[in-house]
Amino acid sequence: MSTEEITIRSIQHYLYCPHRWGLLEIDRAWAENIFVTKANLMHERVHEPEQYYSAKGKKVYTSVPVYCDQEAYNLYGITDCIELIPDQQGVPVDKSGKRYRLRIIEYKPTIPKERLYREDDLMQVFAQKICVDFVFGGDSEGYIYYADVRKRIRLPLRENYDLYDEKLKTLLQEMRNCLKKGLIPEIRRGQNCNGCSMKDLCMPTLKPITNLHDRIRKLEEVD
Ligand code: SF4
Repeated sequence: MSTEEITIRSIQHYLYCPHRWGLLEIDRAWAENIFVTKANLMHERVHEPEQYYSAKGKKVYTSVPVYCDQEAYNLYGITDCIELIPDQQGVPVDKSGKRYRLRIIEYKPTIPKERLYREDDLMQVFAQKICVDFVFGGDSEGYIYYADVRKRIRLPLRENYDLYDEKLKTLLQEMRNCLKKGLIPEIRRGQNCNGCSMKDLCMPTLKPITNLHDRIRKLEEVD
């Protein structure tokens, strides 16, 4: 049985707010705000196609398209940056015969408050790892680079591989179920809407009233 392809970026959207993901993927809605614009500008700078260079023995590639078409994943997307570090235990990536350790770098504009990374960002990088390892082989590392503090943070992807792998597969299943049924997930209880670009479209404060009308309508139908 073939499964629908899912973009790596949409995993982060789904984890941030499943309702927002549904509006974007199923309802095709979109709204820009300062947060989105900032992130887009940053990605534009990072996504200069086919740019690469060597620094301190490393090779750095930006905007690398990756995918994994294994049934359990069927993912694709673009990584901000992959660094190739010379390593005899690494994998060959071209015909030169040289071996490299691969390091994925995801760029984010701001570091979160009181923690080193957000779980949704980590899962986005883990999904990239699944694709990078599928395309190039090996066991890549994952980092997030925060532009505001000019700092990179290593993510514990290898240490917790089984845990994140199970979580990713469950997420993909949930997302595919919604896509198949055309279902926009309900707003999560306690959803943090700070900085969401979709507030005007979503109107989360009005949702309980809408739900009440739905409930009354359903009760009338039963009567
Ligand atoms: S406003 Fe809140 S509930 Fe609505 S899409 Fe944004 S984060 Fe989700």
